[in-house]
Amino acid sequence: MAPRRLTEDSGSPVADNQNSQTAGVQGPVLIQDHHLVEKLAKFNRERIPERIVHARGSGAYGYFELTRDVSQWTHAKFLSEVGKRTDVLVRFSTVAGGRGAPEAVRDPRGFAVKFYTEDGNYDLTGNNTPIFFIHDPLKFPDFIHSQKPDPHTNKQESDNVWDFFSLSPEATHMFTWLFGDRGIPASYRTMNGYGSHTFQWVNSEGERVWVKYHFKTDQGIECLTGDQPAKVAGENPESHTTDLMEAIDAGNLPSWTVNIQVMPDADAQTYHINPFDVTKVWPHADYPLIPIGKMVLNRNPVNYFAEVEQAGFDPGNFVPGIGPSPDKMLQGRLFAYGDAHRYRLGINHTQLPVNTPKAATVDNYGRDGLMRFDDNGAMDKNYEPNSFGGPVQTDEPHYAGIAGGMSGTYEWDDRDTDEFAQAGALYRVMTPPEQDRLIASIAGDLSQVSKDEIIERSLANFAAADAEYGARLKAAIEALRS
Ligand code: NDP
Repeated sequence: MAPRRLTEDSGSPVADNQNSQTAGVQGPVLIQDHHLVEKLAKFNRERIPERIVHARGSGAYGYFELTRDVSQWTHAKFLSEVGKRTDVLVRFSTVAGGRGAPEAVRDPRGFAVKFYTEDGNYDLTGNNTPIFFIHDPLKFPDFIHSQKPDPHTNKQESDNVWDFFSLSPEATHMFTWLFGDRGIPASYRTMNGYGSHTFQWVNSEGERVWVKYHFKTDQGIECLTGDQPAKVAGENPESHTTDLMEAIDAGNLPSWTVNIQVMPDADAQTYHINPFDVTKVWPHADYPLIPIGKMVLNRNPVNYFAEVEQAGFDPGNFVPGIGPSPDKMLQGRLFAYGDAHRYRLGINHTQLPVNTPKAATVDNYGRDGLMRFDDNGAMDKNYEPNSFGGPVQTDEPHYAGIAGGMSGTYEWDDRDTDEFAQAGALYRVMTPPEQDRLIASIAGDLSQVSKDEIIERSLANFAAADAEYGARLKAAIEALRS
């Protein structure tokens, strides 16, 4: 077979890819060497803005299969029939580290799923935790600043991490989670995923329920403890990426059993926990897990940049039958994710092959913008209403008022001001060896803090969660600092 012909971006053949053009044998390099200039200029521009959080990630394709009839709760088409399969892209990630950071570190993990449904893409931007640190998006930039490199030292500082925590009691639950064993999963395959937020499902009668998603790993939970993470992170910074890719390539396909918790609409008004507070779970005893499907990953991306770095997940991407809840953090993310992609990838990022719907057709009046690379609507009119057969809104009842409107108010309520009870419950869920490791990991980190008042406030939060938990931490820190 003839060798493939090397060309410039214009298609023009390249005669020499080893030697720049010079003015004579000893002469300087010529600006007329268009191939050289183009090659260097493209190289300079290879990096796009790093995600401010979740910068380091891995992705894989697969499918979601419905295993239980859920039509009593939602009319979402991809959830309409037992056995129905929908293609998915999943992006796993760490959160605080930059794009080249090691993966075997204590950090939450992103668990973002893009369902390519016939009613358009449905994105679930979950984590490996059923809860989050804070419940108001106004605090998010401050929270992330406290976890990211310090403006002076340019490294993560225990002072900042614990200062913010000690002044944000609602984070006690998530900090207990993070410093427990599950704070360092052994791999992306061996951790659970959660939608974390509460969502609404609406059935064909227009009736609404509130739903939480739990993706339980079929591989079993595996975590790194003791000196394992330092060893793994040092020897293989890409440990999670390697594991996922090799497992799929070997046909050892990772899967998750997808469960939901369902809360009747009326309960949301009266349940003793605010069901829209993402720092709290719904206890299983009140709202048991209902298995509804299976998610299987079976194909690695061919090109990392095109299919993972350029993937954009947007929690505002719903399909009829599913919608948002008044969870404030979710409401903040409905804005922030799309905005991040507009900054990072550009206004036309939804046209990138990985982001564009695969089972639905896009037809609207959006036009132009940087890097518009389809036919831009060709000769079609770019306004609506029009008399030229352009797309019109549907009045099919099935599509009416996506997931219903909010009636009444779901203003933030303080019905449950106890920021600590569930952190205590989590401490008590852990086995004694898990508790020992939790105490050791918190004490190891918190004892590094330079200000006593930060340590004392932090200890008070943990003691409020569980007196024994607080007392054991206090003793462990005193021992380390003596
Ligand atoms: P349950 O006893 O019904 O469930 C306990 C949950 O804790 C299980 O989902 C279990 O997950 C999980 N779990 C077990 N060990 C750990 C650990 N070391 N770190 C994190 N999670 C762990 O209790 P409740 O529903 O009443 O909840 C009690 C506490 O459990 C909550 O305060 C919360 O912190 C935690 N939890 C609750 C969840 C929920 O949605 N209700 C979900 C996850 C945790 P698994 O079955 O996979 O082992």
